[in-house]
Amino acid sequence: MSEQQDVDRWASVLGNDAQADGKFLYAVKTTGIYCRPSCRSRPPRRENVVFFASVEEAKHAGFRPCKRCRPDGLPRSADKADRIARACRLIQESEKAPQLSVLAEQAGMSRFHFHRLFKQAVGMTPRQYAIACRDERVRAALADGQRVTDAVFGAGYESSGHFYAVGSRSLGMAPESYRSQGADHVIRFAIGETRLGAILVAGTTRGICAITMCDDPDVLIKQLQDSFACAELIGGDPEFEAHVAAVVGFVERPANGLDLPLDIQGTVFQQRVWRALQQIPCGETASYTEIAERIGAPKAARAVARSCASNLLAIAIPCHRVVRSDGELSGYRWGIARKRDLLDREAKSAVSSREQTTAAD
Ligand SMILES: [Zn+2]
Repeated sequence: MSEQQDVDRWASVLGNDAQADGKFLYAVKTTGIYCRPSCRSRPPRRENVVFFASVEEAKHAGFRPCKRCRPDGLPRSADKADRIARACRLIQESEKAPQLSVLAEQAGMSRFHFHRLFKQAVGMTPRQYAIACRDERVRAALADGQRVTDAVFGAGYESSGHFYAVGSRSLGMAPESYRSQGADHVIRFAIGETRLGAILVAGTTRGICAITMCDDPDVLIKQLQDSFACAELIGGDPEFEAHVAAVVGFVERPANGLDLPLDIQGTVFQQRVWRALQQIPCGETASYTEIAERIGAPKAARAVARSCASNLLAIAIPCHRVVRSDGELSGYRWGIARKRDLLDREAKSAVSSREQTTAAD
């Protein structure tokens, strides 16, 4: 190391030269502490100073970082971002959302300044961020196979009602986009049992927006949450028990038409496909190509298949009645076994209703 370089470095230290930060560090033998060149601490005596090119070198030589200029931290320009990042970590690691005053104090800022800076950097307020973190924990626990109530309590919610009331509304989204994605929507739901497993029926004030099936009711709730991430979910609604009963009844004894008010949400193309599916009589099937032809888009068989796969209203929009041109069942969003079961039962009920008609003649 040249003598001239040391002379320049010493000049930078005496001048508190921020331009020299990041280029080298100086340590004071008498205190055992190393600093950035810009550090405002009292200038040491030249004979006690040694220079280092990096934090590693200074550490390796046995020096500790200065608490004032934090030479082992991020550069000062990134300091605020660093403090916000620390606040984020603190929120993530706390089961209960830390108070704003606690977070602000940790960051060394006023509450007002911290709140503004946090929102600017993260895109949501500390409170919204805390809710999002808690929600993440619920999702992680659910993905882990925990029961909904365990996941909800484990993540720090006071009750599952509290979770449905406040959870899952701000997930990784800025408040503006979350509002626009229908956060003001309330979705009520209820779960019933059929021979095909658990069935969930959910709806808005406009009508039923989801009918889904799975062996595990907890998974159904999680999927509902995923499909309507911004909505407020309210479970066990008595009004919905009646709709569930209608759907369960149809699964057990299929007949033409499941008369439910539907709130169908999809693209224009999807809605055309779904309407065509509703025209397929109970006991009959159609191929993807036939549906494509019926909606006047004969080349769109694959898009028809995709629309069937994204149908959220099982049974009410009978995507199970669409099969391949060669008669193979093809896929089904809720499992091929359920598709086969539904079709078999519908075929039988169609035969018996024809026999009844004949007998009545
Ligand atoms: Zn220092």
